[in-house]
Amino acid sequence: MQLEFLGGSSILGSSHSAPYKQRMASFGALSLCPCSPLLRPHHPVRTIYCCHGSPTVLGKNVSKVPRKRPGRLEGAKRSMEDSVQRKMEQFYEGSDGPPLRVLPIGGLGEIGMNCMLVGNYDRYILIDAGVMFPDHDELGVQKIIPDTTFIKRWSHKIEAVVITHGHEDHIGALPWVIPALDSHTPIYASSFTVELIKKRLKENGIFVPSRLKVFKMRKRFTAGPFEIEPIRVTHSIPDCCGLVLRCTDGTILHTGDWKIDESPLDGKVFDRETLEQLSKEGVTLMMSDSTNVLSPGRTISESVVADALLRRISAAKGRVITTQFASNIHRLGSVKAAADLTGRKLVFVGMSLRTYLDAAWKDGKAPIDPSTLVKVEDIDAYAPKDLLIVTTGSQAEPRAALNLASYGSSHSLKLSKEDMILYSAKVIPGNESRVMKMLNRISEIGSNIIMGKNELLHTSGHGYRGELEEVLQIVKPQHFLPIHGELLFLKEHELLGRSTGIRHTTVIKNGEMLGVSHLRNRRVLSNGFTSLGRENLQLKYSDGDKAFGSSSELFVDERLKIATDGIIVVSMEILRPQSVDGLNGTGIKGKLRITTRCLWLDKGKLLDALHKAAHAALSSCPVNCPLAHMERTVSELLRKMVRKYSGKRPEVIVMAVESPGGVLSEELGARLSGKSYSGFGMSASRKAVDGQPTKSHLNSIRPDGNNDLPSEDNSSQESQGYHLESERLLPEEDYDTTNLNLTETQSFDNEGLEDFWKPFITPSSPANELAKDHEGSVQHLKNALEISNEREEVSDDKSLKTSNSDVNSSKPVKRNKWKPEEIKKLIKLRGQLHARFQVTRGRMALWEEISNGMLADGINRSPGQCKSLWTSLVQKFEQESKSEKKSKKSWPYLEEMSGILSDSEAVATK
Ligand SMILES: [Zn+2]
Ligand SMILES: [Zn+2]
Repeated sequence: MQLEFLGGSSILGSSHSAPYKQRMASFGALSLCPCSPLLRPHHPVRTIYCCHGSPTVLGKNVSKVPRKRPGRLEGAKRSMEDSVQRKMEQFYEGSDGPPLRVLPIGGLGEIGMNCMLVGNYDRYILIDAGVMFPDHDELGVQKIIPDTTFIKRWSHKIEAVVITHGHEDHIGALPWVIPALDSHTPIYASSFTVELIKKRLKENGIFVPSRLKVFKMRKRFTAGPFEIEPIRVTHSIPDCCGLVLRCTDGTILHTGDWKIDESPLDGKVFDRETLEQLSKEGVTLMMSDSTNVLSPGRTISESVVADALLRRISAAKGRVITTQFASNIHRLGSVKAAADLTGRKLVFVGMSLRTYLDAAWKDGKAPIDPSTLVKVEDIDAYAPKDLLIVTTGSQAEPRAALNLASYGSSHSLKLSKEDMILYSAKVIPGNESRVMKMLNRISEIGSNIIMGKNELLHTSGHGYRGELEEVLQIVKPQHFLPIHGELLFLKEHELLGRSTGIRHTTVIKNGEMLGVSHLRNRRVLSNGFTSLGRENLQLKYSDGDKAFGSSSELFVDERLKIATDGIIVVSMEILRPQSVDGLNGTGIKGKLRITTRCLWLDKGKLLDALHKAAHAALSSCPVNCPLAHMERTVSELLRKMVRKYSGKRPEVIVMAVESPGGVLSEELGARLSGKSYSGFGMSASRKAVDGQPTKSHLNSIRPDGNNDLPSEDNSSQESQGYHLESERLLPEEDYDTTNLNLTETQSFDNEGLEDFWKPFITPSSPANELAKDHEGSVQHLKNALEISNEREEVSDDKSLKTSNSDVNSSKPVKRNKWKPEEIKKLIKLRGQLHARFQVTRGRMALWEEISNGMLADGINRSPGQCKSLWTSLVQKFEQESKSEKKSKKSWPYLEEMSGILSDSEAVATK
């Protein structure tokens, strides 16, 4: 068995539309055309600087210089002026200078996140809006998104979005990019792609049917400053196109992702003729897919793969299982044809297979009627030789079907010795290790795995070098800009372009703006490319749930730091000297509890040392020092100690509370009623703001958003744990350092605070009442909000468990979570406004209306809260309506939701 890790014979091979991340949205395994790189080299930055109001000329063949403009810099002068230009990096805007402009937001110098502004002077269209998948996905960051802040800043100049095809690296960022655009900006795509986009936007609650426009191949339409003609290219997902953009200042060809498949299964061939005509017409600028520039020769056709699949399936005696990228509908067609010819029944195991097939079905392009598929739960009703099972998981995504089956943990698919597995995909560089582990597990079970280049079970969707060269020679553009690839690929593609005789070629990176002028009648009016400025674009991140923002907003570095260096949480109950003056100088003592995570403890030795160090640090503090000072002293010492001990720099979180020991009950009462209290050292000025029992501090939420602190269930890493139903005294100035959840703390009004403390003052019945009430509200919530994700469920469970002692948490729970009647009301109000939501641009106003409607019924929910719950409900609805199982009945809002959303479906398909 030969494993194909690399495409072609080059070290940097092709790869494919690849489902990469099973847990993303409800797309399950998602489809990326790309080809994560084998190498991610950090190239020296090639900096292009621009000048004040006048562009910098790039390009190697600077021949004749056009009319000189003041301040224009060329050739050697440019480098001379570089230092001056460093200051000026904003983009060249305005109506002089080169008329055609290109500004990549993503996709250049990386695989994924394709997103590019192309303009005529200051009027732009955005071509594609894709995501990229991070290397450190295990830290919870699931997608990287182009700089939506910049897109928003330029939204007034962006007149349309045009999508080349439906792979994740071309459409995946739309849910974030669309809100950054003006509310009327249209989105153009082919019909199959529109189906995929529609589903995505519905999941995110931002679907406005009127904004999606379907285009047809060769049918010209106007978007922004351009007349656009989509032309047919072959790739690994249906309905892919290249784009010809025409305006009076020239013609641009953007190839999209492509290969030349001479015998595509749907008969829709690569449109060479149009390219030939285009060449005669004259192409000012061509931008072309560089993914496989390092693979010599040409790709094989999908029909070759279809034959290979049929050969293998015909020869098989037992059950056959295939795995491939879910978006490759044509490949699914080949599998279906083989099933029909060999009399096998087809089964799909894996959500994303259905997602893409359903989209193709709605678009009338599906090779399989989804209703004819054997249901997963009926697999056992068929003899193995009668089955052909299609699975997700070619990249060993953690929750994909084949990967689960390799662990023996899939309910629907149990692998056996008699199974034959056809690996009809490519291992995307970066996934080799986990794929190999999965294959090892399958081999151990004994199934026969068929894979490798010689088997011809897979072909790339991106043209190899021979194809790239052919198209360069057909089109003969005046200017050539390689796109879609690592910097290394772009540079190689540039060389290939020059070798075909193109004089003006260049390589740029994301955020660098390029100007191009058309060369008329062979008179050189341009020196090639012109640099028009540079912007340091900021990557955005999504953690797969609601969280979205810059790397600092999502604490990407902090996630990495905690994963590599660990975390220590210290809670200290401070015992100051007991005299009423509080100043008799016997030194501070404390009851300590230390919890660690992700930290090597050296069989407990380190933990002992930490305890000793913390005690020592405490006793070094002045008797009357503020809690914040103690916290700082202890954390600094512990950090230093661990660094010395194991070379790690853990995050150390210290929380100090005063011990209530020695505080008389009347004094406590006095303080609780808001009267000032004196006589316990520094605590004289303290105000009781938080009645959390000390043990629950470990679950408190940090104001900086890192709320996933360790819980107290891991007793092996703790010592001296204690449970004391004490009050917590906190000086106001300590807010910043004591890791309280500020918003929750601030949300207590005085009245609430009074009520909140009552159970502690007279701890007989009211406490139980409160606890019961709390449990009740949590129960409501569990019934109501089954839409919550796992994390929320865990937190619900926690609050249930701790509800008797951890009364504090009941307050925010009651305030923040939705009750069933509130949810019903929201659904009703949203339903009433549904038609308006479909046509209105400023939809926040509608949410305000809903929020007011809720208020009229005594429910105080902000427009944002309403909108956010609705998004969750829509997602849950999508899940529920997909699942065939019993949970369907148990979700209480299914009927109401389907009443609203099936209407929208009807609107959408009109
Ligand atoms: Zn792509
Ligand atoms: Zn693609």
